[in-house]
Amino acid sequence: MKTDVFASRHIGITEEDFDHMLKTVSVDSLDQLIHETIPDDIKLKKVLDLDAPMSEHKFLAHLETLSKKNKVFRSYIGLGYHESLTPSVIKRNILENPGWYTAYTPYQAEIAQGRLEALLNFQTVVSDLTGMELANASLLDESTAAAEAMTMLFDVRSREQKKNGITKFFVSEEVLPQTLALLETRANPLGIELVLGKHDDFDFADGFYGALLQYPGKYGQVFDYRSFVEKAKEKDIKVAVATDILSLVLLTPPGEIGVDVVVGTTQRFGIPLGYGGPHAAFFATKEEYKRNIPGRIIGVTKDRDDKPALRMALQTREQHIKRDKATSNICTAQVLLAVMAGMYAVYHGPKGLGYIANKVHSTATTLADAIEKLGYYQTNSAFFDTILVKANPEVIRPIAESEEVNFLYPESDSVVISVNEATSIKDLNQIINIFAKAKEKEEVEVQKLISTSSIPRELQRTTKFLENKVFNSYHSETGLMRYIKKLERKDLSLNHSMISLGSCTMKLNAASEMLPLSSASWSNIHPFVPIEQAEGYQIMLKELAKDLTTITGFADTSLQPNSGAQGEYAGLMVIRAYHESNGEGHRNICLIPASAHGTNPASAVMAGMKVVVTKTDEKGNIDVEDLEEKVKAHAENLAALMVTYPSTHGVFESSIRQITKLIHDHGGQVYMDGANMNAQVGLTNPATIGADVCHLNLHKTFAIPHGGGGPGVGPICVAPQLVPFLPSNPVIKTGGKEAISAISAAPWGSSLVCLISYGYIKMLGLEGLANSTKIAILNANYIKHRLSGKYDVLYTGEKGRAAHEMIIDCRSFKQRGIEVTDIAKRLMDYGFHAPTVSFPVAGTLMIEPTESENLAELDRFCDAMISIREEIDKAEPDEPNNVLKNAPHTLEMVTSDIWDFSYSRQQAAFPLPYVSENKFWPSVRRVDDAYGDRNLICTCAPIEAYAEA
Ligand SMILES: *Cc1c(COP(=O)(O)O)cnc(C)c1O
Repeated sequence: MKTDVFASRHIGITEEDFDHMLKTVSVDSLDQLIHETIPDDIKLKKVLDLDAPMSEHKFLAHLETLSKKNKVFRSYIGLGYHESLTPSVIKRNILENPGWYTAYTPYQAEIAQGRLEALLNFQTVVSDLTGMELANASLLDESTAAAEAMTMLFDVRSREQKKNGITKFFVSEEVLPQTLALLETRANPLGIELVLGKHDDFDFADGFYGALLQYPGKYGQVFDYRSFVEKAKEKDIKVAVATDILSLVLLTPPGEIGVDVVVGTTQRFGIPLGYGGPHAAFFATKEEYKRNIPGRIIGVTKDRDDKPALRMALQTREQHIKRDKATSNICTAQVLLAVMAGMYAVYHGPKGLGYIANKVHSTATTLADAIEKLGYYQTNSAFFDTILVKANPEVIRPIAESEEVNFLYPESDSVVISVNEATSIKDLNQIINIFAKAKEKEEVEVQKLISTSSIPRELQRTTKFLENKVFNSYHSETGLMRYIKKLERKDLSLNHSMISLGSCTMKLNAASEMLPLSSASWSNIHPFVPIEQAEGYQIMLKELAKDLTTITGFADTSLQPNSGAQGEYAGLMVIRAYHESNGEGHRNICLIPASAHGTNPASAVMAGMKVVVTKTDEKGNIDVEDLEEKVKAHAENLAALMVTYPSTHGVFESSIRQITKLIHDHGGQVYMDGANMNAQVGLTNPATIGADVCHLNLHKTFAIPHGGGGPGVGPICVAPQLVPFLPSNPVIKTGGKEAISAISAAPWGSSLVCLISYGYIKMLGLEGLANSTKIAILNANYIKHRLSGKYDVLYTGEKGRAAHEMIIDCRSFKQRGIEVTDIAKRLMDYGFHAPTVSFPVAGTLMIEPTESENLAELDRFCDAMISIREEIDKAEPDEPNNVLKNAPHTLEMVTSDIWDFSYSRQQAAFPLPYVSENKFWPSVRRVDDAYGDRNLICTCAPIEAYAEA
């Protein structure tokens, strides 16, 4: 074995395993299997132009060199991004810990109680600080959260307002520029009319349904919005406020003045800047809107023994299920970052947060005082951390940059300075002396912070926050380290066993890919620094975009979208702009097969398109006849087809080129959902199948960890005709010549985690990438063969092959009283996370092993599935007291003095010999979803009350 070849570490199958596996799937060679799986007419004809693979060692050295090209200045730019201090205990035990970062979205609640608790903490922090009843966990960034507020309030307009066609949304001039750009992007397709103005001379005319304010304003002024909110209420105008979460430690929470929605980012709660992301945004609102909140809400419920348990609440409301009735397409969000931000609050507690907020505020007041003493005029009459100084940027800027300091220069006569947790007295003196130098004054030295407040009494916070036990218990490092470990132990992640979630591609997230994220040269860069300061990033991002362009066969790539669903939206908006530029703006029909992921129709609706669902045939393929009929019926207005390839049924449809041609012949564009790209890389690509644009889930195919439900990166790759429309950013220019407005807040989205995918591609190289695809296909087919006779595989290609995943049908087990959920829960007793349940077909499991698993693990999983099948055969339909229905079994249950079951404790907890070697204990019994939805509790306080009761 060549120890310096990364592919042999990334791919789990060894050469010695090959023969056995090939024999099992009845082929002579891997190439024969691929030949029988991928249709000939879409195989790549020429070799992709990608670099030769780098060893892990070489890659790390390469990134070290590249990172030196980034200039890490002190940035006081603000605009929603602030340098923050990640407590080392959180960095080491969460950010750098696969127990946390390799977990999936907590769909299987019984083996996800740890991160569910961490997210409940996050929601509590947000609810308490904003003064709102309910918060979600979490959204992609502050600007998209503001856009979600605008659309949610649009959806909840009164019947009267809907009838009268009330569509105006007021946006304060104080809103961040990137938020304004996002609102423009989102408003237009939905028919929302934005009106920009000053909040103090808004006349509350008729025709408005909502308003967005920024608190504090974009350059730091803190306004009193009480009278605005009162007047808005009289007119039934709903008010959303974008806010700075740290400022709320000292400021009156927006919830206390009666607003309807509060949004913002939690970046400054210990999350690195990362040149734009990832960071978790929040969305808090009133109880009455609980069924309209975008994204996920964690809620308290009980398990089968009436013990408190957590799970994602209101699941039936999820976008997957609502499809084209969805009002948001949030799926992957920013869970890992929300976990970290929540933990930051746990570690510091209310007193620590008070200390930090006061220190930041005193730093700002001390700065204002010193600068005024130098003879400058500081215009913010009330502020938290940001001051606005009347000064000439042309004088200040060169001095500041020579001192490696960035300010914000919004106008020709002003400089904005936003201080943060990391700003020391030394930094403060550096800032002051930049201003002294500009006036050619002598150097000054401030010795200590002054403690006068610049927050008027009526805007000071008087309510307490974070009084729950969890925020007042873990302030020592030992304490927090153990709390983090306690939660981690409850969660099944990739460092325990295979997570074969179909469509989610839970592959290895290699340590060498992750390591660079910890370096300050990558993590501590503000997204709006002058581009020359981020040369290392620019090289990396360009190179990654180029490689993704090559892999997809397209012409260009935008890395801006922060999730797959956001990529879908971006791609459709680009298609929309393309049709408009051709004078065909009327094209608004989006064809989507019935089997599509729920985000597809949701994204299409958000892009202002009308969804027409097309049928799938009994083999799971697109019903070409039905498609043709619908294409012809809608030819005049056909905008696009959205197609997943290989299909969500795990099949390479051989008619794909015929399908894409049909769309083109009728003036439409083809959008390919790239979630299944792991079955294509290096062997075929979207351009070859005839698509025009696709998104890629870098958090699936390209090795970014799922983080328990985010971060994600969903770049879009486009054909030449769509390149001009790639999205821009209002602060730092990006995108095409006729760019659509921003899709996410930061110019390059979640730049920091793009390093992971960059590493993945550079270390595997072309051969490693193609081999990964082949082995992913081999592994899926191996499982398919091992399970054959025990389970029916729903769909296969023409030659009987699965692609990189397969669906097994569990519907017939209903005769024995067994549901697919029972199998999912029983797998936990065997130490496995369930495959994807009931997507894309109800009553089925979709299994995707990925290339990273080794043969022994594939076999353990198959053994578990086969053993479960035997248990199913023993189940009696009218006897629910069986090992499947009672699953999962907890340690408490198995060691209890009472054992009322017809099977043994051993059968319950150690059903196969291998289990005892590596036993995973679910921490709760099966959770009751319905109970929690009827009694919605989404913050920490009640859980303890609940436990006491
Ligand atoms: C995961 C997935 C998506 C959505 O991606 P997110 O990053 O979760 O927004 C869309 N389509 C398919 C088929 C997927 O599997």
